[in-house]
Amino acid sequence: MFSSIAGRSVLVTGGTRGIGRGIAQVFALAGANVLITGRSVEPGLACARELTALGGGRVGFVPADAATLAGNRAAVAAAVEQHGGLDVLCANAGIFPERPLAELTEDDVEQVLATNVKGTVFAVQAAIEPLTRSGRGRVILTSSITGPITGSPGWSHYGASKAAQLGFMRTAAIELAPHRITVNAVLPGNIVTEGLAELGAGYRASMEAAIPMRRLGEAEDIGHAALFFATDQAAYITGQALVVDGGQVLPESLAAMAAG
Ligand code: NAP
Repeated sequence: MFSSIAGRSVLVTGGTRGIGRGIAQVFALAGANVLITGRSVEPGLACARELTALGGGRVGFVPADAATLAGNRAAVAAAVEQHGGLDVLCANAGIFPERPLAELTEDDVEQVLATNVKGTVFAVQAAIEPLTRSGRGRVILTSSITGPITGSPGWSHYGASKAAQLGFMRTAAIELAPHRITVNAVLPGNIVTEGLAELGAGYRASMEAAIPMRRLGEAEDIGHAALFFATDQAAYITGQALVVDGGQVLPESLAAMAAG
C-alpha cells in the first residue's frame, strides 16, 4: 500500500498538454498541489482550470521557458511561493522535431539540446534547494525509449538529447542522494499526445503496428509511473530508468512481432 502524497508541491514543466498534462492530472487527483509550465499562456491557464475542476489538489500555471536557466528558476520560485515549498520536480518539457541527419542545421540541434538537455539540467539545479528542504525530494525526468534504447530515422538529434538526460540523471542522483533527493526517469514509448498527433496518422499507424499491445499509451500511463517514483515507498530507488511502452522495445525480429 502506498502512502498518500496529498498536499505535496509538484512542478511539471511542459505540463499544459500531452504527457505533462497527464502527469499533472495524476498528481492532482492524488491530492497534490501542482504547478504546470509552458510558453503559451492561454492553453496553460485553460489546462490549469480544467485540471483543478477535477476536484483534486490545486493546479496553477505560470508561463516559463524550460530551455533557459532564468525560466527554470522562475518556475521553481513560483511553485515555492504558491505551494509553500517543492517536493517533486517533473522535468518533462521537451520537443521532438523530425529532420533527417543529412539535413540537420546548427539551429535544429541547438533547439533540441537547449530544451531537452539544458532545460533538464537547469530545472534540476534550480530545484535543489527547495527539494532539499522538503526532506523527501523527488526528481522525475521524462526521457524516451528513442535514444536510450532504440533509434528512429529523423530523430538522431532528439535521440541524442534523450540519452543525454540519462547520463545527466546518473551523476545528479549521486550528487543529490545526501540531500535525500532521488532522481529517476520514465522512458515513454509512443504516447497519445498533441505533439505526437502533429507527426500525422501514418506515423501513429506505423507505431501501433510495432507495439505488442497494438495501441499507443495514454499520458496518464506516464503519470502513474511518475507518481510511483514520488511515493515514500520509492525513497530508496534512484538513478533508474523505467520503460513504459506497451512492450515496444521487446520484439527481436519482425517474426517475433508477428507471433504476438
Ligand atoms: P507535446 O504534446 O508537444 O507537449 C509539450 C509540452 O511541453 C507542452 O506543454 C509545451 O507547451 C511544453 N514545452 C515545449 N517546449 C517548452 C519550453 N521551451 N518551455 C516550456 N514548455 C515547453 O509533447 P509530448 O508528446 O507530451 O512530450 C512531452 C515529453 O515527453 C517530451 O520530453 C518528449 O520528449 C517526451 N516523450 C514523448 C513521447 C510521445 O510519444 N509523445 C514519447 C517519448 C518521450 P508550450 O508549447 O506552450 O511551451
